[in-house]
Amino acid sequence: MMNKKLGINTTCVHVGEVEDKQFKGAVSPIYMSTSYAFSNVDVKRYPRYYNTPNQEMLCKKIAALENTEDAMIFSSGMAAISSAMLAFLKRGDHVVIQQVIYGGTYNFIVSEFDKYGIEYSFTESDKASDFVPLIKENTKIFYIETPSNPLLGITDMKAIADVAKERKILTMIDNTFASPINQNPYNFGIDIIIHSATKYMGGHSDISAGAVAASQEHIEQIWKTAINLGGNLSDQTVWLLERSLKTLNLRVKEQTKNAHIMAGYLEQSNDIDKVYYPGLESHPQYEVAKNQMKGFGAMLSFELKKGIDAMDFQNNLSLIKPSMSLAGLESTTVSPTQTTHALLSEQERLERGIKDGLIRFSVGIEEPEDLIADIEQAIKKVKK
Ligand SMILES: *Cc1c(COP(=O)(O)O)cnc(C)c1O
Repeated sequence: MMNKKLGINTTCVHVGEVEDKQFKGAVSPIYMSTSYAFSNVDVKRYPRYYNTPNQEMLCKKIAALENTEDAMIFSSGMAAISSAMLAFLKRGDHVVIQQVIYGGTYNFIVSEFDKYGIEYSFTESDKASDFVPLIKENTKIFYIETPSNPLLGITDMKAIADVAKERKILTMIDNTFASPINQNPYNFGIDIIIHSATKYMGGHSDISAGAVAASQEHIEQIWKTAINLGGNLSDQTVWLLERSLKTLNLRVKEQTKNAHIMAGYLEQSNDIDKVYYPGLESHPQYEVAKNQMKGFGAMLSFELKKGIDAMDFQNNLSLIKPSMSLAGLESTTVSPTQTTHALLSEQERLERGIKDGLIRFSVGIEEPEDLIADIEQAIKKVKK
């Protein structure tokens, strides 16, 4: 590979290709072997060592996309998150975690950490100043997520990294919502970058995978724990993920452009109370988002006016699909009150700013005028 830094689409298509030396095919061959020679070889390869040919090469593409030295891929976002955290934590350590994080990560922390004697504190908000008073002598990690789910909160990555670096605390980010196309946390001093590749990296709602990008030293440490936890990805799926990543920039750019248009439309609609999108000047952290994101992303959320029932509305959409997950090519919506936050009481939800009429909208590649028409016809049907 050439030394010059390649353009984004060139990186997506070509970095980390597996060369088909035998037949000169245009795409990477899949090596499905779970058994490799052990004598007279440089590397002892095995799927759970995360070093089969397809795994090893795909990591180069992901590292190039996040501008880090190295990367690893996993069987899910949660395998990536749990392996990365447990690699750096031992009994008696302490972690400071941003208040609003992905539900699965929250569940992992509150249901597993006590068993290992790992202490944790959740911040009051996503401001860097809220992390400082929670620091203890044994604090090892700051864990953040930006933009966050479902209200698209923005955490100032550089401010977090600065506070952490002074105290030799490691910083980890869940960068799933932005994807490497819209945000590269490593450039702002964040140490470990994590993705649920089930979302934008996969992009077609048909792959479960995870990724971590970091320095070579940090990846080596994560690897030592990851081989014990065993969350490696099948080579067949590695190959599908490579194929998906070829269009990552094309997809996410288009989705981001559409989300901005949709946010503008929703903000001026008389049937919508409030729109949460970091690309709107009305977003409280708009300036921070502008400073640290290359694009504002393709996730947004909005509140329907009273009298428009959120479930009725979603059931009457025809193009846009109510759906549990997010970040596919197709536009989807979800009611946080029915899914991610269903286990909380109404009071607890309101404390977190989650009203019954809130809808999270994952914007796809369809033409915005078709999405707008779909929303308008659904509102018309259910409006009282
Ligand atoms: C989906 C998701 C995860 C978990 O990823 P899985 O692939 O489902 O394990 C983590 N963080 C965020 C922000 C997500 O959306």
